[in-house]
Amino acid sequence: MSEQLKKHIRSIPDFPKEGILFKDISTLLKNKAAFKKAVDSMAKVVKGKKIDYVLSIESRGFIFGAALAYKLGAGFVPVRKKGKLPAETISVNYSLEYGTDTLEMHKDAIKPNSKILIVDDLLATGGTMSAVVQLAEKVQAKIFGIIFLIELCDLKGREKLKGYPVYSILKY
Ligand code: AMP
Repeated sequence: MSEQLKKHIRSIPDFPKEGILFKDISTLLKNKAAFKKAVDSMAKVVKGKKIDYVLSIESRGFIFGAALAYKLGAGFVPVRKKGKLPAETISVNYSLEYGTDTLEMHKDAIKPNSKILIVDDLLATGGTMSAVVQLAEKVQAKIFGIIFLIELCDLKGREKLKGYPVYSILKY
């Protein structure tokens, strides 16, 4: 099954910069059967768990996160880059290859002890997701799982997320 889905993902060398092999999911998204299969596979992982909110990161995380929230009957909470959310936010800084960036979430988005699922399209080094986890911990959410469509295993992002259940559908 995962080999079938992998056929819909194209790898673009040296994007957005030299040395990065970019996994382009736009080719999967435009194929109705593949997109459905991808979302259904992600939903299956958490089948039977009662999730209050799906938390996702802009922008490709939103595509899968919103579809999953709908499918699981959960609410959707966006995590965004600095300055995009209109109400009072909490934030966390995280390091990039060069410099740092900031992620924000609305302060009142999640009540303490809410059961959440965190979703993104791809796990690389795990830097982005560990920042999202910090935001979720700040509001005392209960993280039921962290799910990615794609995991780049060589980059060992999973190690940065130790202690949390991490799932991925397509491993490279
Ligand atoms: P990281 O923080 O290194 O785990 O990077 C994860 C974020 O960067 C995800 O939101 C991905 O969408 C994006 N990303 C990192 N590497 C790639 C890649 N090779 N192809 C596509 N997206 C990537």
